[in-house]
Amino acid sequence: METILLLAHTETDGSLAQSAREALHVAATLHKSVAVSQLVVGLIGENVQSAADAIAACPATKYFGVIGKDFSQSRYATDTAAAEAICRTSGATVVVAPATSRWNRVLAGVAQRLGGHVDTHINGVSANDGKIAVNRWYYRQRMEAVLNRKQRPWFMLIDPGSQPACQSRSGTASIKNVVVELSDACKRTTVIGVREPAADAQTIRPDAQLLFVTGAGWTKKQADGQPHVPEAEKLIRGFLQLSRASLGSSKSLVDQSGEGQAILSFLSHLNQIGQTGATPRHPKGLSTCCHGEEPHTVGWRFVAERRAINLDPNCGWARGKADVLYVADAFKVMTKVNELLAAKT
Ligand SMILES: Cc1cc2nc3c(=O)[nH]c(=O)nc-3n(C[C@H](O)[C@H](O)[C@H](O)COP(=O)(O)OP(=O)(O)OC[C@H]3O[C@@H](n4cnc5c(N)ncnc54)[C@H](O)[C@@H]3O)c2cc1C
Repeated sequence: METILLLAHTETDGSLAQSAREALHVAATLHKSVAVSQLVVGLIGENVQSAADAIAACPATKYFGVIGKDFSQSRYATDTAAAEAICRTSGATVVVAPATSRWNRVLAGVAQRLGGHVDTHINGVSANDGKIAVNRWYYRQRMEAVLNRKQRPWFMLIDPGSQPACQSRSGTASIKNVVVELSDACKRTTVIGVREPAADAQTIRPDAQLLFVTGAGWTKKQADGQPHVPEAEKLIRGFLQLSRASLGSSKSLVDQSGEGQAILSFLSHLNQIGQTGATPRHPKGLSTCCHGEEPHTVGWRFVAERRAINLDPNCGWARGKADVLYVADAFKVMTKVNELLAAKT
């Protein structure tokens, strides 16, 4: 019999993140398709009761918790000890976990301790006649593989954003407390604070409904023979503030910073979308002043509805890369869009 364990850590406020609910959806779906299986939940954090209660109506039959202040922060030594203890106590054969930075760091180590195997970047799990398979992409999302494994426990790290979140109703969960003895050596590392950019400076928003891509055209000479970078910057910033979209970029635009040219000050290589950049997941995408070449658009694989604004009717977007291409001046279009959005707020 497979024992499918959803393994999650709670957030600092004791809640379950969206990515944990997505992993729970995978675990519950897998449990449904494997005839002889049980679903159990393991939670790690300072206090896990409210997180367990929030999903109490899911099909899990048992809840395990490693609880306490020592487990509130992301720390390799305590996280591996806690995860290992829950896996051993629950007898898990399949461990489904969200691919958060915290779990990505530790679960390969836990798999090693338990003599199991781990697969990362999973975006699909299925079962046929009791045979479990996982899907993941290779070679910058160009090839998709379906993998089976005989080894157990099998750890599966589910890519956030690739699955619907489990919408199970709340209730009261009865949690079995798993006690983990920690030596002082396990607690040597302490998180003393979190440094993060101000909310406005944070332009990469994985949960945003819209991916807004800027291309090198924003910095090129325009119809009057002059570049208009400060104006471009103002328009893009304004749109991001009004729409809360996530900001992506072509490689050409982010590379310009390294070449000392005038560029948009808030862009970095982290914003780059494409073959040598990111492959984010958003329901919609709008590309502006970007040509839509293959090495760029390959990064749009998981963007469902695609639109582009380009002066060139023969740009790459017109060749099957976008659902809608507006052949127009992006400066004019975005000025109007910002006016309309501002009027709505
Ligand atoms: C191995 C390899 C890996 C690569 N990896 C990546 C990658 O990961 N990501 C990536 O993006 N690229 C990548 N590239 C580069 C890629 O091939 C393109 O060179 C790059 O995407 C072009 O960027 P761009 O479209 O912004 O610039 P350009 O090609 O300069 O296009 C600018 C566009 O702006 C339009 N434009 C100008 N003014 C306006 C206006 N006012 N209104 C509307 N449109 C306007 C122009 O018509 C033009 O189409 C890679 C290339 C190689 C060889």
